[in-house]
Amino acid sequence: MSDPADVAPVAPWIAAQTRTLIRQRGHAWLLQGPAGLGHYPLALSLASAWLCEAPTADGACGHCPSCHSIAVRTHADLRVLMPETHLLELGWPLGEKAQQEIDDKARKPSREIRVDAVCEAVEFCQRTNARNRGKVVLVFPAEDMNRITANALLKTLEEPPGDTRFILASQAAHRLLPTVRSRCMVHTLAWPDAQASATWLSAHGLPASQAAGLLRASGGRPALALQMAQAGQDAAVWARFPRAMAAGDALFVKDWSAAQLVDALQKLCHDLCAMAVGAPPRYFDPADLPAAAPLAELRGLGSWDRELRHTRQVVDHPWNAGLMTEALVGAAKMAMRAAGLGPPQRAPAARLA
Ligand SMILES: [Zn+2]
Repeated sequence: MSDPADVAPVAPWIAAQTRTLIRQRGHAWLLQGPAGLGHYPLALSLASAWLCEAPTADGACGHCPSCHSIAVRTHADLRVLMPETHLLELGWPLGEKAQQEIDDKARKPSREIRVDAVCEAVEFCQRTNARNRGKVVLVFPAEDMNRITANALLKTLEEPPGDTRFILASQAAHRLLPTVRSRCMVHTLAWPDAQASATWLSAHGLPASQAAGLLRASGGRPALALQMAQAGQDAAVWARFPRAMAAGDALFVKDWSAAQLVDALQKLCHDLCAMAVGAPPRYFDPADLPAAAPLAELRGLGSWDRELRHTRQVVDHPWNAGLMTEALVGAAKMAMRAAGLGPPQRAPAARLA
C-alpha cells in the first residue's frame, strides 16, 4: 500500500526545509522538534531527494524510477527503521521473519524499534547500493530506540560506509544517547505560519471554521490539526470544552479516550496557567476560557498540571474508562473552582450566532 500523501506535493514549509537541507553536506542529520511539525514527511522528502535520479534544487523529481520505488515502498537503497506499528500504519513492509511471526500470531507488531531490524540495517549499510545514488537509513521516532538498539546503530553512525547517509527524526531528542546526538548535524523543524497552515488545511478539504479551531487545538501544528479532523474532532466541541470542564460535565467527554481527555486537560491547564501570568493562551480562544486566575492561584494550577502529567504516563493501563473520565473531569472542576475560575467568558449561545 502506498500513501498518496508521499507522491502529492509536500506542504510548503516541508518543501522549504528540504531545499535548505539538500544544499548542505553531512552524512547524518538529526531532525528534531516537538511532535506534529512533520518529522516523517521531512525525513522522507530528504531521503527521496538524496536518492532521486534527477533531483532539482527543490528536491526529488517525483517521477524517476527511484521516486516511484519510494512511493511504492520497495526502494532497495532505503531502510526505514520505525516501530512495527508505525511501519504497518504507513504502509512500509516488515522484514520477512517479523512478518511471518506476526502472520503466525506468534507475537503482536512491536511498538519499539526492534534490535533485529537495526542489525539488518547495519548489514544493509555494508552492501553495495543498487541504484548508484548511495543508500539512506531513516529512523523515526529515533527516541524509540532503546539503549541496545541505539548502541547497535552507533558504530555504523560513527563510521558509515562511504555511500550511506542517515536521517534520525526525533520528537524528544533529549532522550537520545548523547553519543548518537553528537554524531549528527542538527536541524530543528520550523513552525509553519498561520496563513500557510490555513491554506494547506483548506487544500485538504477543511472548512475555514474547522481549520482555525483545530489549528488552535493542535497548538499550531497543521498535520496534527488534519489528523484531529480525520479522527472526527470538531472545532465547536473544542471551543465548548473549557465550559464543560468548569461545570464538571463528564457526559460531554463520554466518547473520548482517556488519552484524548488527558491531552485536552493538559492544554486547558496550560492555557489557564499562561493567562494567570499574563501570557496569551495557546490552545483555546481567550473568549472560550474563564477570565484569568489571580497569580496567587498559580500554585494550585501547577499541582493539577503535575497530576495530569502523572496520569498521562499511566493512561494506557486498562483502567475502567467511565470511572477514569469521571475522576479526571471531577479533578478539573475542582482545580478550576479552587483557582477561583468562573464560567468561560463567551456564553455557549454566542458561538452559534
Ligand atoms: Zn526522482
